[in-house]
Amino acid sequence: MDGQTMAESLSEQELAKRVLRAEQRLDCMETTLAAVTDEIDGVSLSSRCSKCEKSLLLIKDGILYCPNCGDGHSL
Ligand SMILES: [Zn+2]
Repeated sequence: MDGQTMAESLSEQELAKRVLRAEQRLDCMETTLAAVTDEIDGVSLSSRCSKCEKSLLLIKDGILYCPNCGDGHSL
């Protein structure tokens, strides 16, 4: 099923509820992820991968890399 068909079958109210729930889950994930990376020495988060756009880039030991597509380079 493509995204448009699915959106049309849902009421606006139901969609709004879903978006709100997704945002809350995202906030929760971001808070957890930031705390986890804080716990790991030498690892921090960067911007979203410009190649696959499916993950944030990680910075580890001076190397910037994407855990999803493996794209990366040294800083
Ligand atoms: Zn990537």
